[in-house]
Amino acid sequence: MSDCIFCKIIKGDIPSTNVYKDEHVTAFRDINPVAPTHILIVPNKHIDSVDVMIVDDEPLIGHLFTVAKELAAKEGIAEGGYRLVVNTGAESGQTVFHVHLHLLGGRQMRAMG
Ligand code: 5GP
Ligand code: ZN
Repeated sequence: MSDCIFCKIIKGDIPSTNVYKDEHVTAFRDINPVAPTHILIVPNKHIDSVDVMIVDDEPLIGHLFTVAKELAAKEGIAEGGYRLVVNTGAESGQTVFHVHLHLLGGRQMRAMG
């Protein structure tokens, strides 16, 4: 997706603070963090949103969570707890239409809504 900002970050065409990369996934710090740790974990393959996921994407989406868990440990927030968020669709607040998992931690979270 040539016009997708996260595809550009994955390719290295836009600068980002990367914290993890492998064949399937890239993770980088959110440009506008809402918590002391705010990392975005994204599949290297472009998928618009969870809403257009297919069954074949299940291992990839599962891998996002394994990477999130490892990064939470590295960031020192695993013990205190952390929040994983996947906004899906405009009404949820999704603004970048390339699937991403928000890893948020380092402060007490409030109720959702
Ligand atoms: P969404 O609202 O779609 O769930 O989350 C998109 C996130 O991407 C937002 O938290 C926003 O701050 C972040 N973001 C948008 N553009 C960029 C960018 O160019 N670089 C980085 N690192 N984060 C971005
Ligand atoms: Zn993309």
